Amino acid sequence: MTTRKKVEPDLARLDRVVADARRARDEREQSYRGQALKLFPWICGRCAREFDHTNVQELTVHHKNHNHDHNPPDGSNWELLCLYCHDNEHQRQLEHSGSADIRGERARNSTHMPFADLAALLRKEE
Ligand SMILES: [Zn+2]
Ligand SMILES: [Zn+2]
Repeated sequence: MTTRKKVEPDLARLDRVVADARRARDEREQSYRGQALKLFPWICGRCAREFDHTNVQELTVHHKNHNHDHNPPDGSNWELLCLYCHDNEHQRQLEHSGSADIRGERARNSTHMPFADLAALLRKEE
């Protein structure tokens, strides 16, 4: 019983790391999304659907080179896509290059949270 303590993960610390990672990702995503929405007309680059303040949350920023850390301020790596076209875009990519990109880029818009899974997994070990 007492020897287990050593191998238990520090959950408070893990929670903090997870929270920090989420916040950093949210802040980064907020900032490039805000820039992209200022730079481009609110129109989906695939289906040409138009957006306004009532539904702009369905307009997402796609990274042309699929690297969401590559955010040049001139917007050359961004493309505004509606949720549906964005999904389609990544479906095509998934067939070629695995799922790492869509998880990183779309994490905020989906219910899949890799860090939450990790925390849950570690808790099971208690
Ligand atoms: Zn579209
Ligand atoms: Zn994308």
